[in-house]
Amino acid sequence: MSERNGTVICPGSYDPVTNGHIDIITRSARVFDRVVVGVVNNPLRKQKTLFTAEERRGFIAEATADLPNVEVRVFASLLVEFAREAGAKAIVKGLRAISDFEYEFEMAQLNRKLAPEIESVFITASPHYSFLSSTGVKEMATFGGDVGDLVPGPVAAALSERLPAR
Ligand code: ADP
Repeated sequence: MSERNGTVICPGSYDPVTNGHIDIITRSARVFDRVVVGVVNNPLRKQKTLFTAEERRGFIAEATADLPNVEVRVFASLLVEFAREAGAKAIVKGLRAISDFEYEFEMAQLNRKLAPEIESVFITASPHYSFLSSTGVKEMATFGGDVGDLVPGPVAAALSERLPAR
């Protein structure tokens, strides 16, 4: 194995970041020298995000403040372009279930076509986070469910402010 494992990108919408995402970022930071978390800002997406890109970035930056080799950036370009600009040699994605695999497999093939020099790397979800998604967390919060164990503290607080329980 080479001495240096270089820079990788952990991309996502992170609307909002969950403990499952933080787990993948933390584990990536143990394996690679530098982890750039890329928060997608796609103003053309039909589905509006609950939090702005800057809010989403801020939650991750706060939750990873103790990891010196992690930085968090917003990007609005093609993922492989963002990876190239950051000097990354790989894109790291978390895999929860078979359903993630199908989508991620397709994305990895497309990205390989666009940028063959950038590898896609997959880290399997920790069992206790394998059913955790940003969408699920938002639904739970909407109906007054306790999401305190599923997301970082500031995210739980922001969710109860933004989504007052029905
Ligand atoms: P997207 O923008 O593709 O909807 P997300 O922002 O939800 O993605 O997630 C970003 C990445 O984190 C994806 O690779 C996703 O598979 C992974 N991920 C999401 N939730 C978890 C989890 N609970 N455990 C592990 N990986 C996860």
